[in-house]
Amino acid sequence: MLRDTIFAQATAPGRAGLAVIRISGPDARCAAEALSGRLPSHGRSVRTLRDRDGEILDEALVLTFAEGRSSTGEIVAELHLHGSTAVVSAVLRVLAEDSRLRMADPGEFTRRALENGRLDLAQVEGLADLIDAETEAQRRQALRVFSGKLKDLADGWRGSLLRAMALIEATIDFADEEVPADVSDEVSALIIEVRQEMWKESAGVAVAERIRDGFEVAIIGRPNVGKSSLLNILAGREAAITSEMAGTTRDVIEVRLDLEGLPVTLLDTAGLREAEDALENIGIAKGRTRAKMADLRVYIAEPGEDTEVDLEPEDIVVQGKADLLPPGTPGLSARTGAGIDQLVDRIGRVLRGRAAAAGTAMRARHRMALDRAIGGLDRAMAAMVDGSDSADIVAEELRGAVRAVDMMVGRIDVEDVLGEIFASFCVGK
Ligand code: GDP
Repeated sequence: MLRDTIFAQATAPGRAGLAVIRISGPDARCAAEALSGRLPSHGRSVRTLRDRDGEILDEALVLTFAEGRSSTGEIVAELHLHGSTAVVSAVLRVLAEDSRLRMADPGEFTRRALENGRLDLAQVEGLADLIDAETEAQRRQALRVFSGKLKDLADGWRGSLLRAMALIEATIDFADEEVPADVSDEVSALIIEVRQEMWKESAGVAVAERIRDGFEVAIIGRPNVGKSSLLNILAGREAAITSEMAGTTRDVIEVRLDLEGLPVTLLDTAGLREAEDALENIGIAKGRTRAKMADLRVYIAEPGEDTEVDLEPEDIVVQGKADLLPPGTPGLSARTGAGIDQLVDRIGRVLRGRAAAAGTAMRARHRMALDRAIGGLDRAMAAMVDGSDSADIVAEELRGAVRAVDMMVGRIDVEDVLGEIFASFCVGK
């Protein structure tokens, strides 16, 4: 395919130690050479970059990659510049004047990597998440997908299903002759094994989504027990307004934080009580719903309050304002800081337990493909029970399941999902 050559700044704009400009496409090396003089077809060189009038722009490290040996699969030149805005814009201006080049669209480098088979679709998604990763858990999860784990899984399933299909098709082809042996045992064993693994991955998507988007932890309790004060301490900043008056937290306040490597959104919900004020009641109702939907609730009890509250099994109940209680009473105090570390520890333990259920599939799109494949396998199993007359149906269902797996890693139907995925990329990626 004849391609144009694109360029963009790959690093974030602004002042930095280094800035990298990438050029990819058939004219990438020639375009870089216009700035730097001769370059090897594959290698690194330190060069003085000059504009057309010979004026020095920067002293740069220039990396060149031969076709088929770069991240996009095309000829690539990378200019590692000093990260000043002036240097970068001067070099970008010179590149923009080169009629062989054009500015890259968002995600276009990655798109080319995908189209040239350097990355599969799941890896592209993993890369998008890796760039967005803010916490350890997010980084690890994204890297798992980016390194091709999902494709490895898909390849394994594909192989097993193709083998099952071949066995079934053999019974169709030899229908009039003597069938070699009864294949149904081996076929069902293959299907059951694949189905089990797919089911586990599908179930893990919800958790993986949480790792990507954050676990929600709602802080609940009666008004004035110190919910906002706790949130402020956990967030390390004055995010929620605290006041002596009951009912000041009208709406749900959200604070995102990195809790022991897991992304967590803390919700400060309006106090649990019947208010006279209609507006306040709306706030309370909203808070209740959000708290119910959250992944975990931390109930703060007032001194002397009965802590028997109706919660989910893993939810946490703590005694608040422990500084007002006799010394030695377990609980937590926003005033003295007592019990805060233990609470963070407990929340971390519960969420880590949940995060362990995450597999490699991490998007709703993956789950849909998996569920479609599982549906096909279930129908194939049901048809198997009917014996050899149903071989055609079994083979067809298996083919459908393979198609769903292929769709998950983007072997087919790529165009539909591309737009959506690339919309989240920045220019230069
Ligand atoms: P919320 O309505 O549950 O969000 O409660 P706030 O965080 O707004 O706190 C209500 C009042 O209790 C404020 O005056 C806080 O200063 C006070 N308070 C919060 N936490 C503690 C604590 O641990 N000990 C004591 N003694 N007072 C606290």
